[in-house]
Amino acid sequence: MVDFCIIGSGVAGSTISKILSKKYSVLVLDKARGPGGRSSNKRFQKNLSFDHGVQYISPKSKRFKKFLENLRRRNIVKIWDGDHLDFTFEKKEFNRKYIGRLGNNDICKYNLKNINQSYQSTVKSIKFNKFFWEIKLDNEKYLQSKSIILTCPFPQLKKLAFKFLNKKIFNLKISMHPNITTMLAFKNKKEIPVSSIKFKDDLLGWAANENSKKRFKSTLSLWTLQSTVKWAKKTINNYKKNRKVENAMISKFLSSTGFKKNTIIFKKTHGWKYSYNYQQTLMKSYWDKNKRIGVCADWFIGPKVESAWLSANDLAKKIKKI
Ligand SMILES: Cc1cc2nc3c(=O)[nH]c(=O)nc-3n(C[C@H](O)[C@H](O)[C@H](O)COP(=O)(O)OP(=O)(O)OC[C@H]3O[C@@H](n4cnc5c(N)ncnc54)[C@H](O)[C@@H]3O)c2cc1C
Repeated sequence: MVDFCIIGSGVAGSTISKILSKKYSVLVLDKARGPGGRSSNKRFQKNLSFDHGVQYISPKSKRFKKFLENLRRRNIVKIWDGDHLDFTFEKKEFNRKYIGRLGNNDICKYNLKNINQSYQSTVKSIKFNKFFWEIKLDNEKYLQSKSIILTCPFPQLKKLAFKFLNKKIFNLKISMHPNITTMLAFKNKKEIPVSSIKFKDDLLGWAANENSKKRFKSTLSLWTLQSTVKWAKKTINNYKKNRKVENAMISKFLSSTGFKKNTIIFKKTHGWKYSYNYQQTLMKSYWDKNKRIGVCADWFIGPKVESAWLSANDLAKKIKKI
């Protein structure tokens, strides 16, 4: 039986796993095919990959900045340079943007090195008896663990652990907004010399030039588009069936940049139901030492990778006190 079973391999799950693994045995379970959660990099084939979740990290706190600089020295992350433009195509953003050297899940991969991990392992239910946690997976397998830590988005946490957590956690004001992301490849390598564009639009929020990240050489132009929250709220439940959702985002991009529709040779759209929570809550993480259940995730603190990292560090402090 492991000491800690961590549900989720995103920034929060991988960070708390790394800290706890110095002293305890740890197993990470994730329903996805690989690590990263919302810090995801989708690789469809060689030289065709997109950061379709987290776009970049701009640290605010000194501690997180230090952590990222340490990863930069180790060649795990790098700075995404080039011009980051606003919707006028004139004003530039100058805040430092960190990205993974190979993909934006690199931080999670780094954290999880040498830690036991199991993917495509969806946790269906958890059950507490005085001595251990019983974890039921979707393949009907059962696991046991002395302690359990959940890092899922808030609505998924509620489904899985409502019975076992203090109700004050469910009184927190949390609203996780959706996002629609479209990945595009154009056959002619017509490069516009920008790294990203922030749009001022009801529908299209942002576009990232994947080639400007200089991770690999591509003969194609690769772009990741992200919707506004407003557009995602309207369309998240039918974007798969209704091609108009994807087409509308693409049309906005084409008309703003001059790319031609007939040069698109690849497109894929993903809907994120629970992207981010903008409100900071009064809690940073949750730990119940009697039941040995913990929760850490971005949504306690804010809408960013940094929020997930801070929440995991806060939980680690609480656990160390016991
Ligand atoms: C489209 C988009 C763009 C973003 N852009 C940025 C950005 O530019 N900069 C920034 O700082 N932040 C950005 N964010 C926010 C950032 O992604 C999150 O703040 C951060 O990744 C959250 O990490 P986490 O570990 O708390 O949660 P997650 O990354 O969501 O990790 C939770 C994990 O739990 C797993 N899981 C859930 N339920 C189960 C279950 N029942 N069984 C097993 N596994 C389960 C999930 O598969 C997932 O891997 C963006 C998010 C999205 C969606």
